[in-house]
Amino acid sequence: MRRSLVIGNWKMNGTRASTQQLLGDLLAGLGEKALTGEVGVGVPFVFIPQAAEQLKNTGILLGSQNVSDQDAGAYTGEIAATMLREFGCSFAIVGHSERRLLYHESSPEVAARYNKAIEHGLTPVLCVGERLEQRELGETFNVIDEQLTAVLAVAGTASFLRAVIAYEPVWAIGTGKTATAEQAQAVHEFIRQRIASEDQHVAQAVRILYGGSVKPENAEALFAMPDIDGGLIGGASLDARSFLSICFSAG
Ligand code: PEP
Repeated sequence: MRRSLVIGNWKMNGTRASTQQLLGDLLAGLGEKALTGEVGVGVPFVFIPQAAEQLKNTGILLGSQNVSDQDAGAYTGEIAATMLREFGCSFAIVGHSERRLLYHESSPEVAARYNKAIEHGLTPVLCVGERLEQRELGETFNVIDEQLTAVLAVAGTASFLRAVIAYEPVWAIGTGKTATAEQAQAVHEFIRQRIASEDQHVAQAVRILYGGSVKPENAEALFAMPDIDGGLIGGASLDARSFLSICFSAG
């Protein structure tokens, strides 16, 4: 049985004060009800030390929104997996569509970042997903397959025992358009089958989250699908009440 997981992706938002407030509200809300699933927040790099302090011994997972594919050295602007671990992160989002599209991170580059996270005991949350025109051309499964295959080639199938996958159709991110539960399930099933074609046990164990305009109103239907194990939440994760409601929908 896979444990549900809901992760907030804060993107490039917040201040010291709003970070403290939002985490405080989440802790208060999560303290009111017992959850069987896990909850995490992916905060901007500079807020990681502050968030680590506030989340210490609370059970809420802390993560970053990217990680370098290098260990150390002349890589201006990058942050190493070891640094993230030292400051209390347990996961790193990799291959978010905003990184792939706005900053031109290719699938091999994403795979290298994923691999570095695995190497240093940081759980990569690997984002995959198609753009609208790719969906309309019937290329969804090919796109996802290419993104997964790049990672399988570099890090191997067993790495997915220590990773999380997030299916995030690009056309649903921040647009208010959510994939229907059935559309999302079809792709989640494809992802699990792709991993199963390598290793059945790994495929049954890996958690696959859905991301793309998840809101309190649509979370329950999405999370009820057999291959959807939780969510990666952007906009709604910045509002404590909405995020908590989504977390409670995941159980
Ligand atoms: C995301 O950025 O990972 C995301 C899913 O965003 P949103 O929920 O705002 O669509």
